Amino acid sequence: MENFIQLLNHPEKFTGMRVVLVYHNMEILVEKNEVGNPVPGYKKISGYYDLTGSLVPIGILNGVYYSALNVDDRGDTPENTKFMNVRHLYRTSNEDLFFLAGLGRQIADWDRTFRFCGKCGSLTESHSHERVKICPNCGHSTYPKISPAMICSVTRGDEILLARGSKFTRPVYSVLAGFVEPGETLEETVEREVMEETNISVKNINYFGSQPWPFSSSMMIAFTAEYESGEIKIDDKEILDAGWFSFNNLPMLPTPYSIARRLIMNFVDKCESK
Ligand SMILES: [Zn+2]
Repeated sequence: MENFIQLLNHPEKFTGMRVVLVYHNMEILVEKNEVGNPVPGYKKISGYYDLTGSLVPIGILNGVYYSALNVDDRGDTPENTKFMNVRHLYRTSNEDLFFLAGLGRQIADWDRTFRFCGKCGSLTESHSHERVKICPNCGHSTYPKISPAMICSVTRGDEILLARGSKFTRPVYSVLAGFVEPGETLEETVEREVMEETNISVKNINYFGSQPWPFSSSMMIAFTAEYESGEIKIDDKEILDAGWFSFNNLPMLPTPYSIARRLIMNFVDKCESK
């Protein structure tokens, strides 16, 4: 997100516009039938929720200060609003708000699940201008968890290897991805995951880019690779189907804001410009 400032030293001194994103687990409060900026304003929710208590600061985007509020109970919601899965916000919102809402969910969830010190069990305290939970009893500090994961396009001439993951909620096909194991280089993760999931070995692994993916608290590190050898044999615990798809005959693809989609479109552009 461009124009995003993580945190303020003194959020109480901020005088501009404030927006509070209201979360219930993985869901966020949105306006019904609103496209573009579907988040209800401060005034609308202030009559409904207690905003004097523990708001979790997210940061400033385009001059607006965003913070998060966890609610334990969905209960009644303000007029013309509803709770919606944060991941589905890409359908109605712009890219910045999609990622900001995802980040807010990640931070709010961290705030909620690390209320107690993992070492001694005391109540933790939030730091005033750093994203860390500190235990006043033993001094143990806890930062938000970020899990590195690799994502990789594997191509063979005009074809790309795509798979349908068993956890996907829509029938989309995407490039392969997986979490980095302790002791592994990113390139080793690429080789291992592609082999484990599809029985294909790859060569010419090159860095492509990265994207924080707040919905799973991960950092996606993207690569391109080329087919070296092997026949597709899927790991049916992880994926339902995999295949080589021609650049001009692709199946349903992942959300446009994802680096997975960017990897696939990068391959398509290269094929089309040949
Ligand atoms: Zn402690």
